[in-house]
Amino acid sequence: MSLGDMAGVMNDGAIIMGDLFCADGHSKDRHNFAISHMHSDHASLLTKCLYNGRVFMTKATRDLLEAINDDSYADRTFDGSIKRKQIQILEYKERAKVLENDIIEYIAFYHSNHALGASQIEITTKDKKRIVYSGDITADDIPPENIHTLILDATHGHPSYDKVKDPASIERRMLDKIDEVTSAENPQSVVIHGHEGKLQEVMTLISNHKTLDNFPMQASAKEIKIADVYRKYDFNIREEITDWSSDKGEEQREETDWPFMEFYTQNTKRTYENKRKAFTFLLTDKSNQTPIIESDNTWTVTTSAHAGHNELLSYVEKAKTTTSEQLRIIVDNSRSKQAKALVGVLRAKGYNVEFQPKI
Ligand SMILES: [Zn+2]
Ligand SMILES: [Zn+2]
Repeated sequence: MSLGDMAGVMNDGAIIMGDLFCADGHSKDRHNFAISHMHSDHASLLTKCLYNGRVFMTKATRDLLEAINDDSYADRTFDGSIKRKQIQILEYKERAKVLENDIIEYIAFYHSNHALGASQIEITTKDKKRIVYSGDITADDIPPENIHTLILDATHGHPSYDKVKDPASIERRMLDKIDEVTSAENPQSVVIHGHEGKLQEVMTLISNHKTLDNFPMQASAKEIKIADVYRKYDFNIREEITDWSSDKGEEQREETDWPFMEFYTQNTKRTYENKRKAFTFLLTDKSNQTPIIESDNTWTVTTSAHAGHNELLSYVEKAKTTTSEQLRIIVDNSRSKQAKALVGVLRAKGYNVEFQPKI
């Protein structure tokens, strides 16, 4: 992007919006930042941003990032002589005014179902043009109205990616399989591998499933902290989760005929999975494959956290029909390899669209 542009995606993934804002990344020239959601490809530069200016986000995202980074952003700590700024909390659809160098811009967040706290970000420029960054969105999300420039996430932009069909039946089959292996004659424990957020959603699913009540749940201290945040936002996760690294955790794992359930963010298998003492579930977001792939002592289960190709098209269609502007679209080419394929399809449909960065 050139400096004269109002919006763009930089090589490092920073989303430049209007004259004043930078979203989901860092820019040394900006003093107003926003973070769409907790995932690391969007939020990892938070600390750097806080030394440069204020950072807007939802309360849930702030709570989750405090748990993930084991930090308290209410504290203003010092790095040399530079004081760390505080996070600015915004409710969905609440507008905040920012004034810098005689320029006034507004920021607002719109709900996204991608993860707890997730947002679409809208900046209203000094010329009253609305720039929207979709952030990560799902099939159920609706863009705000009157968009001038839409910066679109393309995680699953390729036409081969489609919506996960019937997620309820996939969850059902997974719970049945957990019931089966934990209650077999030679019962197995269960290790569920997945991303932060998705693991807590599965903890909720299991907590609500009566037959699994008695089996201990284990996770890292960090995942337990994140579960505490989810509980605060009304996810029904069982109170008792044991820290994997504690003595009690080890005792639970050594119990030979009483299975445990572990929630793990790494994709590498534990020794007890390789020794078949525990059954493996790998949660994946790849909606271009069979929803459940059964292999030796392992199920690879597709869960839906991102809109598929057709859902992205209908999101864009909604943005177009609800704006009186000539909609311009910039597809984020820094976080996904699927941006170019999506741009090709959108261009063929007559949209004014490009990908950025141009790499
Ligand atoms: Zn995400
Ligand atoms: Zn993402």
